[in-house]
Amino acid sequence: MTASDITTADRPLVLEFHEGDRTMAELLGGKGAGLAEMTRLGLPVPPGFIVTTDACRAFLAAGGDPEGLWDQVDTALAELEQRSGLTLGDPERPLLVSVRSGAKFSMPGMMETVLNIGLNDEVVAALTERGEAHFAWDSYRRLGQMYGRTVLGVEGARFDDLLTRARADAGVATDAELDVAHLQRLAHDFRAIIVEETGKELPQDPRIQLREAVRAVFRSWNGERARLYRAHEGIPDDLGTAVNVVQMVFGNRGERSGSGVCFTRNPVTGEAGPFGDYLPDAQGEDVVSGVRSPMDLSELHRRDPEIDAELSRHLEALERHYRDLCDVEFTVERGRLWILQTRLGKRSPAAAFRIASELTDEGVIDLDEALTRVNGHQLTTLLHPSFGVGEAAPLATGLAASPGAAVGQLVFDAATAMEWAALGRDVVLARPETSPDDFGGLLAAKAVITSRGGLTSHAAVVARGLGKTAVTGIEVMAVDPAARVATFHGDHVLREGTVVSVDGSSGELFEGSREIQASVVATAIQQASPQAPRETSDAAGQPVDPTARAVLRLLEHADKTRTMGVRANAETPEEARAARRFGAEGIGLCRTEHMLMGPRRQLVERVVTDEDAAGALAEIEATALDEFTTLLTVMEGLPVVVRLLDPPLHEFLPDLVDLSVDAAVTAAKGEAADPVAEKRLAAVRRLHEANPMLGLRGVRLLLVHPEVAEVQVRALAEAVARLVGQGRDVRPEVMLPLVAEVAELTAARERLEAVIAEVGAKHGRTVDIPVGVMIELPRAALTAADLAAHADFFSFGTNDLTQTTWGISRDDAEASFLALYREQGIIAIDPFESLDEVGVGALVRTAVEQGRRTRPDLELGVCGEHAGDPASIGFFAAAGIDYLSCSPPRVPVARLEAGRQAVLTAGAHPTSDTR
Ligand code: PEP
Ligand code: MG
Repeated sequence: MTASDITTADRPLVLEFHEGDRTMAELLGGKGAGLAEMTRLGLPVPPGFIVTTDACRAFLAAGGDPEGLWDQVDTALAELEQRSGLTLGDPERPLLVSVRSGAKFSMPGMMETVLNIGLNDEVVAALTERGEAHFAWDSYRRLGQMYGRTVLGVEGARFDDLLTRARADAGVATDAELDVAHLQRLAHDFRAIIVEETGKELPQDPRIQLREAVRAVFRSWNGERARLYRAHEGIPDDLGTAVNVVQMVFGNRGERSGSGVCFTRNPVTGEAGPFGDYLPDAQGEDVVSGVRSPMDLSELHRRDPEIDAELSRHLEALERHYRDLCDVEFTVERGRLWILQTRLGKRSPAAAFRIASELTDEGVIDLDEALTRVNGHQLTTLLHPSFGVGEAAPLATGLAASPGAAVGQLVFDAATAMEWAALGRDVVLARPETSPDDFGGLLAAKAVITSRGGLTSHAAVVARGLGKTAVTGIEVMAVDPAARVATFHGDHVLREGTVVSVDGSSGELFEGSREIQASVVATAIQQASPQAPRETSDAAGQPVDPTARAVLRLLEHADKTRTMGVRANAETPEEARAARRFGAEGIGLCRTEHMLMGPRRQLVERVVTDEDAAGALAEIEATALDEFTTLLTVMEGLPVVVRLLDPPLHEFLPDLVDLSVDAAVTAAKGEAADPVAEKRLAAVRRLHEANPMLGLRGVRLLLVHPEVAEVQVRALAEAVARLVGQGRDVRPEVMLPLVAEVAELTAARERLEAVIAEVGAKHGRTVDIPVGVMIELPRAALTAADLAAHADFFSFGTNDLTQTTWGISRDDAEASFLALYREQGIIAIDPFESLDEVGVGALVRTAVEQGRRTRPDLELGVCGEHAGDPASIGFFAAAGIDYLSCSPPRVPVARLEAGRQAVLTAGAHPTSDTR
């Protein structure tokens, strides 16, 4: 793009306030669009004009002024002079203007501002003569300071040092208390610094000041701060900033003057009514910079009830007009109120829900629109216990793997975790990484922390399922379970028993104990859930907490609007009950290997190493029968999808290195080898895989070692037959993991159906268990048309599908190079956290399309972690997914997001930008 490309476009480069409106933020920036809109509304906005983002982009592209820019500025300036009755540079009636940046998206403090343009020696002298010496010299020294720093690039500290010295010299605490003599000296010294540093004078011609300030604001779009901020916030680099040139009004002109920043409602709690800060006899900068402590807005009421009433009227008008929380900056100059800025107000998650719900009560918006004003990320933060505000610095930071806040004593193995927990102690389990062996420890602990592993690692997945706080991938932590210590940053050693606080929402770990606040919202949701077991729903009443009330109301509406069902990933009866309480409409994934963790692990080991395999199988069947019976009973009336044994065998076997070392030690001692140990070592060697995630697991395991899956299915069919016999409404389904080829599905299905039929025959009834397939390998997605011919349903395992599409190990990668990739901008998001729509998403869409082509009524679920990720749910809704299945605590988030997406898809309500 060149400057002439822009200037030949038929859009003007400068617009006066009355020529724009709120829809023009792209061209006028957010601040400019707000000023224009308020001017249209008849609010008391000082006159001014906006140099557009087109002009900025043309300036940056060409490295110089766009053609015709200054002519247009001069015309707008003449209009401004006429409206204000003042003239730039006229000592008798001087016009002073501010020159401020304002991009489409708010980038607070990231770009430049120059105030008091229009002052020069002559104007200052005339003001002084008219008895405004303090005001004139204070404004002049501010101009020198800002112009020097922003336009001429002088180090800001040079001015600040002089100011600090002047305050010390005068014996005052704030700049406002400096007397005329000090201010005059500062103004001179600042100008001397400018000459010394740049060889240039502070221009005396106000038009030159104005032009240079506009150019400096343009340039600040590409300043380092601004670029970093944009990268962090995902704001495009090519938008450019507008420049607002506005008549200065002064809040520092004595008693009946002041400045304030306020909101139309409380942005923290959402409570109705104006909320904000006011500082008498001060400029806006003084309020935001914190140099003086601002007072509550009621101070304005006390001092000047008329102005306060006028402000309240304007706030009401703005909120009614924008139909949302507004954030407003204002100044009172000698008893006259000016509104200087408005935009949609940023708000806390709690306030977002309360404001949306209460605006509905007030008839300002309807419930559909209210749903679009909140999101799943906000709900996530409201659902978990959290630490109260505190200044503590974290000892280390890892990946925020499972949200929540927990405090406990460090332990380094599952056995100690269980032992201490049984004594009533709160413990935090620290491991290098976790394995199925640690399950009991995870259950016993308040939180788990690991030095390795990513967001879909074993520790993360299991912790989320259990609703336990977890931080994984803490790279600066080295855990030595044998020595019972964890070492941080190479030298800070914490021993077993040390109290730590774990923040699973931020990924931070603190030494010592922090105060935990429970989530009232989570409690209210569980009491009100339509799926909740009777004993809890009886207790349901309207929660007293206004945020909780608002969340329930919007969640209820989301349930009405959503087209996708929401189920939970759950195995234990406790998880299943929690799932129902959180509103799950079934279990979409029961990972049966979780039923074989801890001490039961040895049962699988005995089967594959053939140590009393028959006895072990009988035990697996007996416990599975018990557990399926309980699970189906808890979930009565709702579907339960049982996923057959999935993980690589090594997760159930002793470690090859440990066994080999034991054997070598025995041999070295000249002792005879134990035949059982020898046999076990041989079996473990035989089954050892270099790459177990891509090895003997999932349906492959079922086809090679069918006996475990067969007893699992027999137990399930038996549980179903018995419960149906008792008149219970149970709805089991079975699914096969890691299928790549239709022949795997047909072969496995044949085996399983034979077992189901056998159980049915024994009970003299047909046992109906649909068999579905997980789509979690690219080949499955690409051949979904064939799979659909033999599957009763599909469930997308997006964890494995991401792993195999990217070729990145879900257990190792995220903590190390994916973080680095993010830093380097190679990837924007971790694909294990939010669905990669371009790659993995393409496979999902292909499988949906192929599957439905074969079988239009094919039911489609998603049970990977992405199903509970607010940022991924919109994609699933658009792809035509029937239900989401996520860990129980994330169920309300999925319900809300699914409802919100349904409203957004219907199209009437764009989301508001409250960045
Ligand atoms: C998946 O791969 O997405 C899935 C749900 O299965 P698991 O996480 O148990 O491998
Ligand atoms: Mg999987």
